[in-house]
Amino acid sequence: MKFSKGRAFLFRVPEGEELLRYINEFAKKNNVLMGTVSAIGSLRNPKIGYFDEAAGGYNVIELSGTYELVSLSGNVSLKDGEPFAHIHVALGDSDGSLYGGHLVEGEVFVAEVFIQELLGEILERKPQENGLSLWDVEE
Ligand code: ZN
Repeated sequence: MKFSKGRAFLFRVPEGEELLRYINEFAKKNNVLMGTVSAIGSLRNPKIGYFDEAAGGYNVIELSGTYELVSLSGNVSLKDGEPFAHIHVALGDSDGSLYGGHLVEGEVFVAEVFIQELLGEILERKPQENGLSLWDVEE
């Protein structure tokens, strides 16, 4: 799929907000239907998912404490007709060790977020037999 760049947003999320919900609401409020997301910062008590292919669902890993948001990358597309952010994170602990996975939720201590809107054909997620919601097109 080919897209052109639309608006670019750079912002800081207020402390105490739940990051995934905030990004989804930001996309809805600004009518960002397609885009890429990246961020850095620090999250409290993040929950990350590991997709268990055999089970067809996510195992949720609950981390307690404050973790560096070393890297966040993801995208925005449509799901059930609304903007939906799919986000993966790398989280660092006090030893510098990393945990990583699919972001389920995380309370913001600090989050600096960049969203690049993409314009063109709209991709929509549809439930698949493997338990995931994926785009119909693969390229
Ligand atoms: Zn994921």
